Amino acid sequence: MTFLRPRREAGRPLAEALADGLGAPICLTWELTYGCNLACVHCLSSSGRRDPRELSTEQALGVIEQLAALRVFYVNIGGGEPTIRRDFYDLVEACVTQGVGVKFSTNGTTMTPDRAERLAGSDYVDVQVSLDGADAATNDAIRGPGSYAAARQAMANLAAAGMVGFKVSVVATRQNVAQLDAFLALAEEHRAQLRVTRLRPSGRGARSWAELRPTPEQQRILHRWLLAHPEVLTGDSFFHLSALGAPLAGLNLCGAGRVVCLIDPVGDVYACPFALHPEFRAGSVLDPGGFAAVWRDSPLFARLRQPDAGSACSACGAYEACRGGCMAAKFFTGLPASAPDPECVFGHGEAALAALPAGAAPDPGPGHDPMGRPRAFRQPVRLSGVRLTGGAANRP
Ligand code: SF4
Ligand code: SF4
Repeated sequence: MTFLRPRREAGRPLAEALADGLGAPICLTWELTYGCNLACVHCLSSSGRRDPRELSTEQALGVIEQLAALRVFYVNIGGGEPTIRRDFYDLVEACVTQGVGVKFSTNGTTMTPDRAERLAGSDYVDVQVSLDGADAATNDAIRGPGSYAAARQAMANLAAAGMVGFKVSVVATRQNVAQLDAFLALAEEHRAQLRVTRLRPSGRGARSWAELRPTPEQQRILHRWLLAHPEVLTGDSFFHLSALGAPLAGLNLCGAGRVVCLIDPVGDVYACPFALHPEFRAGSVLDPGGFAAVWRDSPLFARLRQPDAGSACSACGAYEACRGGCMAAKFFTGLPASAPDPECVFGHGEAALAALPAGAAPDPGPGHDPMGRPRAFRQPVRLSGVRLTGGAANRP
C-alpha cells in the first residue's frame, strides 16, 4: 500500500524516509467548500461564503476516482462546513465505495440523529466534531453563539447512534488550555476520542493568533499534559514542544508536500492545510494528469522534499526534536523558513518576530468571510479582556 515504507528504505529512520515524500500523501485534506454557517475567529480558510468556482459534483467524483487510483488510504474532508454541500453524503459514499476511507470535520450543526445513525453504520467513515471550549462561554466566544450547544447535541446524537471513537477536535488556545481535563472527560463520556491541535496564524487565525495563542507557560503545561495522556490525538501538530524535553509521539517532522497536502474547494492543491497562499500552491486537480501529476511532479513539492537547508536552528540542541517548527506558522507571521518557529519554546521565535520590520507578515488574503455575517459576530467579542472584531476553526 502507498503509505508503507518502500523496501529500499529499510534500515533508515522512518522520519528520514518520509522526508523524501511518498507515492501518495498519508494525510490528505480535502476542503469541499468555503461555505460555512459559522464564522469562527480562527478559521484557517477564512470560510463563510461558497466560491462559485467550487468543484461540481461531477468534478468531485472525478477527484475521488483519482485518489482511488493513487491508492490514497483515506481523506480528511473539511471546509468550511462540508455537510452544507447537498452532495456531501453522496461524495462520502463514493469515497467509501472506491476504498478511500473518510474522516470529516464538522461544526455539528447538521448532525441530526438520522445522519448520526447512517454514519455509525459505516466502518470507513470517522467524524470529528469541533469544540473550542469545555463550556459555552469559552467555546462561543471563538466559534459563535449557539455553537457549543450544537456541537454538544451532535456529540450526543453520535453517541446515541452507537458511533464509538468519533473525535472531539479542540484547537488549543490561551482560553482553553486550563480545560484540557474537562475536554478529556467530555470525550470519554461520549465514548469519543479527544484530539487537540495547534493554533496556526492562517486565514482568520492570522488576525486572532496574538490573542488566542497559548502563553509560554501554557505551552509547558500542554507539553506535560500531552505526555501524561498519550491516548489524546494531536495530528503530530505540537512537535515544536518536543524541544522542551521528552518527545511527543509522532514523526516530529513538517510533512508539508512530503506526506501532507490539501485540495481546496476549487481543486487547487497546496502543500499543507495551513498554507492556503499562492506561495504554497502546487497545481490543480483539474490540470492535465490530475492530482497524481501534481503530487509527483510539482516543483514546489520537489523543493519541500529536499533535506532542510541550514537555518537559524541548526545549532540548537533540540533541533532533532523540533526541526525548526512549523513552516506555515513562520510564513504567516512574516518569518523566513530558516527562522525559528514563532512559538519556539526557548523564545528565539519571539526575538525573531521582534526584529521584523512592520508589515513583514503576508496578507492572509480576503478569504471567504460571510457577507451577511451573523449579528453577534459584528459585535466585538471579548476574550480575556482583549477585544476581537473577527467573526470560525483552525482545524484539521
Ligand atoms: S507547515 Fe506546519 S502545519 Fe503544515 S505540515 Fe508543516 S508543520 Fe504541519
Ligand atoms: S531554536 Fe529552532 S530548533 Fe531550537 S527549539 Fe527553537 S525553533 Fe526549535
